[in-house]
Amino acid sequence: MPDRHDEHEDERHTLAFETTAIHAGQDPDPAFGAVAVPIYQTSTYAQEAVGKHRGYDYARTGNPTRTALQTAIAALEGGHGALCFASGMAAQATFFYLLRPGDHVVLGNDVYGGTYRLIARVLAGWGVAFDAVDLGDPDALAAALRDTTRVVWVETPSNPLLKIVDIRRVADAAHAAGAWCVVDNTFASPYLQRPIELGADVVVHSTTKYLGGHSDVVGGALVTTDPELHERLAFLQNSAGAVPGPFDAFLVLRGLKTLAVRMEAHCRNAEAVAAMLAAHPKVARVHYPGLPSHPGHEIAARQMRRFGGMVSFECDTEERALEVCRRTRLFFLAESLGGVESLIEHPGRMTHASVAGSPLEVPPTLVRLSVGIEHPDDLALDLRQALDGA
Ligand SMILES: *Cc1c(COP(=O)(O)O)cnc(C)c1O
Repeated sequence: MPDRHDEHEDERHTLAFETTAIHAGQDPDPAFGAVAVPIYQTSTYAQEAVGKHRGYDYARTGNPTRTALQTAIAALEGGHGALCFASGMAAQATFFYLLRPGDHVVLGNDVYGGTYRLIARVLAGWGVAFDAVDLGDPDALAAALRDTTRVVWVETPSNPLLKIVDIRRVADAAHAAGAWCVVDNTFASPYLQRPIELGADVVVHSTTKYLGGHSDVVGGALVTTDPELHERLAFLQNSAGAVPGPFDAFLVLRGLKTLAVRMEAHCRNAEAVAAMLAAHPKVARVHYPGLPSHPGHEIAARQMRRFGGMVSFECDTEERALEVCRRTRLFFLAESLGGVESLIEHPGRMTHASVAGSPLEVPPTLVRLSVGIEHPDDLALDLRQALDGA
């Protein structure tokens, strides 16, 4: 017969996503009962005696606001633990401190440009080898795996072409080769996709995007499944020190609370926008995994709850793509994604300029949308007038 405490723990494990987002790591503050996790804006903590403290001694090593955020993100991803960072790239860079000269990384050939830049232009200088391959092609993955492969890095849906990778298949192949499967879950968020349940060892996030959700903070996270790996990464988080400030942790935590309702609205709007674009005569091709014509539609339907808020499309010429970007009024012309406001951008000249000439180069005719949570009719109308005039 379990005692009351154990019963309570068992209940926790069955809480739904929406409830977890609001409660995990967010009990009322023990000091005054504040229901919002306080911003512990302090660099250090008074100790009662030498070495006798209440779990925190210095704020790079730990901060209660950050702890709350880490607990919440770990619960939402179904991981053992999470570690938060000053940016998505800081999270990735810290993860890669696990590697040694001679190690090899396999990454998808359409991963985030900054990930490619970190591997190809920073890690490569430290003797880490890599291959960028189409992870949708099992033969290409098998051919790329080596004895020295330590990491297979997956991003799905990918940026900006919204390609879908079968996480379970890639995780199985990575494990058979003795490598970790890392999934960048930034585009889907844990509300739509839980890579750990599909076999991933580590999930990475740019919390700047959907987790924060309001275009007002930059941050990152690593979620782990294995306690030993978590300890190694926690050591690296403290050693390298790329931690988020307490106010940034607070903002991401506040964003998390509404993640489920925001993602539903993002998905609803993206579906409406994708349908409008697919029927528009000036649109040559729409990339949205929710469309039955998308090559990854079936896998996406299997491993995601819905299809996300990102849509990209191709025009007939680069000039027209640039003109559409110039003409929208509600869709702001800006880099980044995942906020409540809709954004439009030209990947070739903006977010993906750094991968020009690499295997990750994107078509110049491509336009990317981060569909916000405004009313779908207003968004469809704004895009239609931009296309009609372009
Ligand atoms: C933005 C982004 C990153 C990098 O995150 P920052 O917070 O900008 O450092 C990594 N992966 C993906 C998929 C992203 O969209």
